[in-house]
Amino acid sequence: MYEQCPHCGHTYEREPGYFLGALYVSYLLSIPPGLVLVLGIWHFTRWPFDWSVGAAFLAYLPLVPLVTRWARVLWMHLDWHFDPGA
Ligand SMILES: [Zn+2]
Repeated sequence: MYEQCPHCGHTYEREPGYFLGALYVSYLLSIPPGLVLVLGIWHFTRWPFDWSVGAAFLAYLPLVPLVTRWARVLWMHLDWHFDPGA
C-alpha cells in the first residue's frame, strides 16, 4: 500500500494505529455475507450448525484481503468526512 496518494498526495495512514478503526468496518462488512454463508451451508447440507460455521469460515477466508481493503477505504472516507482538516 502506498504511504501517500500518487495523484493528490493525501497521506493514507495519518497516525500510528490509524487503521485500527477499519477493523470495525471490516467486522460490519463481514457479518451479512458470513451469516448468509452459515445459514446457506446449514440449510443445503444439513450439517450440524457448528460444522456449518466452520465451513462458512473456510469459504469466507479468500474474501478477507478484499474486505480488508474495502474496509480501509471506507474507514478513510468516514474519517475524512468527519475530520477533513487533519
Ligand atoms: Zn488522491
